[in-house]
Amino acid sequence: MSKIFDTLQPYLDKAMALETARSLFEWDDQTIAPFEAAQYTSKVVGILSDEYMKCLINDDVRKLIKKLKEDKEQGELTDKEKAIIKELDKTYEQLESIPPEEYRKYNELTIVANRAWSKAKKDNNYEHFAPYLKKIIEYKNKFAGYRVKKGQEPYDILLGDFDECFGIKDLDIFFDKIKHEIIPLLHQVSKKIDTIDKNYNLLEYDIDKQREFNKYLSGYLGFDFNRGVIAESAHPFTLNLHNHDVRITNEFNKNNLESAMFSAIHETGHALYEMNIDDSLTQTPVGGGTSMGMHESQSRFFENIIGRSEAFWTPIYSKLVETYPENLKNISLEQFIKGVNKAEPSLIRTEADELSYSLHIIIRYEIEKAIFAGEADVDKLPELWNKKYQEYIGLTPANDAEGILQDIHWSFGEFGYFPSYAIGSAIASQLYAKINDVMSVEDYLKEGNITPIREFLRDSVHKYGATKNTNQILMDVTGEELNVDYYIKYLKDKYEKLYSL
Ligand code: ZN
Repeated sequence: MSKIFDTLQPYLDKAMALETARSLFEWDDQTIAPFEAAQYTSKVVGILSDEYMKCLINDDVRKLIKKLKEDKEQGELTDKEKAIIKELDKTYEQLESIPPEEYRKYNELTIVANRAWSKAKKDNNYEHFAPYLKKIIEYKNKFAGYRVKKGQEPYDILLGDFDECFGIKDLDIFFDKIKHEIIPLLHQVSKKIDTIDKNYNLLEYDIDKQREFNKYLSGYLGFDFNRGVIAESAHPFTLNLHNHDVRITNEFNKNNLESAMFSAIHETGHALYEMNIDDSLTQTPVGGGTSMGMHESQSRFFENIIGRSEAFWTPIYSKLVETYPENLKNISLEQFIKGVNKAEPSLIRTEADELSYSLHIIIRYEIEKAIFAGEADVDKLPELWNKKYQEYIGLTPANDAEGILQDIHWSFGEFGYFPSYAIGSAIASQLYAKINDVMSVEDYLKEGNITPIREFLRDSVHKYGATKNTNQILMDVTGEELNVDYYIKYLKDKYEKLYSL
């Protein structure tokens, strides 16, 4: 036991409480707060955020961390405490490298830039957004420059903020392999698009019935309603206060059966991760999922690998048909499974199917990389974007709203975030291969028994929270670090079978 760590504990507890309160307002804002609340509530949120920062970033805490990093003290720490110090050290490195005045100006810029993006997207006018984007990129370059180490590029720093395991060198190899294998596969599939008919998906589906069925689905997968709630918001998301209060949302569309259904499964995957984090870690700086990529791996594992498989639907498809007999009585399970897996080249990332999804990510990755290497002219990004869409997906956006302006991320300065989505899919496939080595996933799914699968993920991934990083978890579970070959094999096997290629 370290006495110095005990001195640190009250600061951590107070910071946690302030952060929990702030998160609760965020949840409230996106779900049930009245329309006019935001302007006034933002004052409360601002004060809570300031207090949180003051509580964590100050001379007392700085001294304690410095002391706790010394060899002598490290010997006294438990693994959990060591992980907490490592996490705090990262936060200090990120925040303290930037002069406060610059950080404040940058934060103000992202608020106006986000509004400019929103208007530019509505008006379909990239030129209106470009000057803001240029300024954001200048700041990001500068901030990354403060932290860049020998042998690193500024973009490595941005990537590292979302996952410390992967930089440009790793991702170049990762994405090159995907590109090489998936683009030809998508071309083959494109020629057979019409062989799958899924018109049933766009019939009318009563929203109350959707709500009820999707709640059933979340529970079926293991969502614990004593420790979680489901609400509605403009875009589905997951938020947790701690491992006994995990919240997900959904958004319903009367003329689309799949949209809310697969969002429900996706967010439940995120929720299971947070619910299964060990009690000893929750409410500490390492009490959440370890990285965006690992989080997305859990949501995508359940959404795509499990949720779009025939075995998963075998015991419950009749219940779905009974919920909407007028629309589904003539749709066989086989046709339904083909429908939910139908691949089709498209322009919008968030609506992309499992096969083409990673190509959307590659396009963003390559553009971001070019921007921070000083190789892309911000004024000409729409041309670059459209060229890559034609090359990789075979389609050219008709305008900037369905092209370069479609994603919100850059307007908030979130560069380096997109790769997490593809990393998540790849991790999911790697874990899936391992689970299949130790149990027959298909047999359990056909029996309607999700528990062994969920428990495997709990014991090998979830319970550790952020005490291990992405590659440490993969190494311990699968015996190797992230290996994209599993993902490519999974996609090839699946789509070659589905389209009889
Ligand atoms: Zn997600």
